[in-house]
This record gives sequence, structure tokens and C-alpha cells, in this order.
Amino acid sequence: MEDAVNASPADSSGQIVVAGAGYAGLHVAMRLTAKLRNRPQVELTLVDRHDYHQVLTELPRVAGGKRAADAVRIPIQDVLATRARFIQTEITGFDLAGRRLLTGAGPIGWRWLVLALGSRPNDFAIPGLAQRTLPMYSAGDAERVWAAVGKALTAAAAATGPDQQRRLATVVIGGGGATGVELAGELAEVLPKVASSHGLAPDRPAVQLVEAGPTILAGSSPQLIDKATKILSDLGVQVRTSATIAAATEEGFQLKDGQLVEGGVFVWAGGVKAPELVADSELPTGHNGRVKVDRYLRVLDHPDIYVAGDLASVTDPSTGHVLPALAQVALEEGETVARNLDAELKGRPLEPFTFHNKGFVVSVGTRRGVADIAGITTGGHLAHLLKDAIEWEYRQSVKHLRGWDPVPG
Ligand SMILES: Cc1cc2nc3c(=O)[nH]c(=O)nc-3n(C[C@H](O)[C@H](O)[C@H](O)COP(=O)(O)OP(=O)(O)OC[C@H]3O[C@@H](n4cnc5c(N)ncnc54)[C@H](O)[C@@H]3O)c2cc1C
Repeated sequence: MEDAVNASPADSSGQIVVAGAGYAGLHVAMRLTAKLRNRPQVELTLVDRHDYHQVLTELPRVAGGKRAADAVRIPIQDVLATRARFIQTEITGFDLAGRRLLTGAGPIGWRWLVLALGSRPNDFAIPGLAQRTLPMYSAGDAERVWAAVGKALTAAAAATGPDQQRRLATVVIGGGGATGVELAGELAEVLPKVASSHGLAPDRPAVQLVEAGPTILAGSSPQLIDKATKILSDLGVQVRTSATIAAATEEGFQLKDGQLVEGGVFVWAGGVKAPELVADSELPTGHNGRVKVDRYLRVLDHPDIYVAGDLASVTDPSTGHVLPALAQVALEEGETVARNLDAELKGRPLEPFTFHNKGFVVSVGTRRGVADIAGITTGGHLAHLLKDAIEWEYRQSVKHLRGWDPVPG
């Protein structure tokens, strides 16, 4: 098998369009601004529906009332060099033959397109789920979760009898992956404290985590799962595994085994899939609608389109599994895409993508967490500090890349 292909140097000018200013897309745009310093003929355009980048890994803190939604929205103009053009608009489709992105601001032609549109919640066609639950995929979503929790606590305080109060003050989270675990931990820790400000006894609120699989944090080491389960139990979270939701109704989550999980607030953190826009296109898609790419992260049969982040379906040769939808994967893919676009412009060989796993860290509650790094599992305060450090480092790296704005003149 060949290790590299030569990019055609024939058309080294023109328009590079990056669709999506999330972890992958913003990284590609920022890295390219530096690489395009001596190529004024190449236009770089970043397109997103929002004029801010969302630090999604911090959403559980917004949903737990510890951080304001605006604190996890980074204005694009603060981090993107002037070398790149930013267009705030909704992307509505693709004209693959005409090489045009269809948007609310009109079509945008590309010589190379980078697709980095991320994910959206997957309700797995469970009846009632989309209507009955709050999603957790944007700063606005997380803000709505915290507002709903406040409303539920107020309603519980006004209710008569401890059973009714307990039901209304219970937050039920569907999905025991990292997002569900982080949210459950945050809420379990803060709810007893905030209950009294709503006129409710601290023992009334509760958090339940409902997971269809046999364990939470599926795919993680048994040691990490044990440590996370133990912390959740300390915090009073009721974890239900092998609990498949058959339907979401006014009464609550109806499980396949006939049980009913009642509560006052229902949040869905049970998985993601590719945006509909991509599913409706003629791009080749695989599991969960993610786009199939070659080893250089180009769409199969569309060498002018690169994909990075959650939207890319990339198989890790070391495990045979498609890489998970994670920020660290999105950033690494973004790095490879930026380097390959630079190679395209210079007529150099493209670089195959290789994933370097830095480990897995999940915060559980406001002080503790769990981490698997280099085969070593830790649980406790250190892991929580590590998660804080990763988030701090990410924000620093975004600021640092901004420093590569070309010097005027
Ligand atoms: C609550 C939560 C917690 C998480 N925690 C972690 C964690 O701790 N560690 C970790 O590694 N990963 C975590 N993740 C996963 C991580 O956030 C994603 O893997 C990462 O955001 C993927 O990056 P991306 O660039 O592919 O997509 P995104 O960051 O989602 O960016 C996609 C961008 O595309 C834009 N867009 C989409 N559709 C359109 C359209 N039609 N028109 C215009 N713009 C559009 C969006 O506005 C967005 O800016 C978490 C995710 C969530 C939701």
C-alpha cells in the first residue's frame, strides 16, 4: 500500500472553504492562516451559523449552574486572524458537481472544502424522546437544562407531600457516556445546596442516570468504570444500567422491562449522529451518518473535500473501530487536514492521518474525576484537576494560534 499520494500543484490558487467553526474547523482555519502567509492569492473562508466557537467540553458546568453560557462561547473575531474571512450563515446543502456550498448568504465556491459540521443528538427513533427531553449539545442547550432544573425545584417546593416533591425534583439523564456521567456528577453535587434557595429540603432532589448498555462509560477500562461508578454512588446518583428506554412519555422514561422512571427534568445525552444536511447529501456515509474518508481524510471519490471532527468516519487501524466523537480526535484530524491542504498548495505528498491517543479524562462532580492515561487509571481530585488543566490548555492554544496573524504590510 502506498504511504502518500502527490497532490496536484496545477491549481494552487483559489478558495479554501472551511464549513464549521468547532474544534476541527476552527483549528484548520487557524493553522492555515499561518501557512498561507506568503500566498495572498489563496482565499480562506470559515463559515458557521454562530459568530462564536463553543467549548462543548465545558457544557456540563453550564448545565450544573457553575458557569455562564457566554463563558463557553468564544467570539470568532477574537481568535481568527484577519487573513481568514468569516461568514456567519446557515449551511443548507452542497452542490458537489459545481463545487459550491449552499448557504443562507448564497453559494460559496470552493477549490477545496473542509467539512467540519460536528454532530447533533441521536434519539435512535425512540418514540417521544426528542419532544420529552432536553438535549445537551450547545451552550444554549446547557443553559436550558439549568433553567429547567431551577423551575423543577420551585415546582417541587410548591408541591404537597415528600413523594410528589421528590418526583418533581428528580433529574433523569438518558445516556451513561462521558456527557451523562459529567452532568450527573455536577448536578448531584449542587442540587442539595441549591434546593434551599428554592424553599425545598436538601434531601428532596435526586439524579438518575439511565444507560441501555451493561456499564456506564462503555469502552473504558473496567478500573475506570468502577471508580466512576463509586464516585457517582458517593454523590447519591442512582445509576441504572441495562435499562433500555422504549419510549419517553408525559409520565417519564418507559423502560423495555416495563419500569417507569419518573422525574421533573429529562435530559438526553445518549449519543450523536451526523447532521441531517449530510445525510441528505450524496456524500458517502457510514455508521451514524458519518462521512467515509480515505487515509488522508478526503471524502471517498471527492479528493477536493476533506472531513475532520465528529463528521469524519475514521477507522483506527490499531483497534479496527471507528474513532469516537471526541474533541482530541477533532483537533488531531484538523491538524492533518491543515497540513494536507498546505501540501496540496505546495504540490507535496499528502500525509496519512494517524491518531495519537492522549488518554481519557472525565470529571465526576465538582471536585473528583477519573482518568485513563498511558494505561494508568486514576480517580479522585487529581483527575478532576487534570480535566480543568486540559480545558485551560485548550483555551490557551486557541489564543496562541491567534497570535499567528500576518504582520500588516
Ligand atoms: C456536552 C458535551 C461534552 C463533551 N465533552 C467532551 C470531553 O470532555 N472530551 C472530549 O474529547 N470530547 C468531548 N465532547 C465531544 C466534543 O465536543 C466533540 O467531539 C467536538 O466538538 C467535535 O468537534 P467538531 O469540530 O467535529 O464539531 P463541533 O465542535 O460540534 O463544531 C461543529 C460546528 O459546525 C457548525 N455547524 C453545524 N452545522 C452547521 C450548519 N448547517 N450551518 C452552519 N454551521 C453549522 C456548528 O455551529 C459548530 O460550530 C463533548 C461533547 C458534548 C456535547
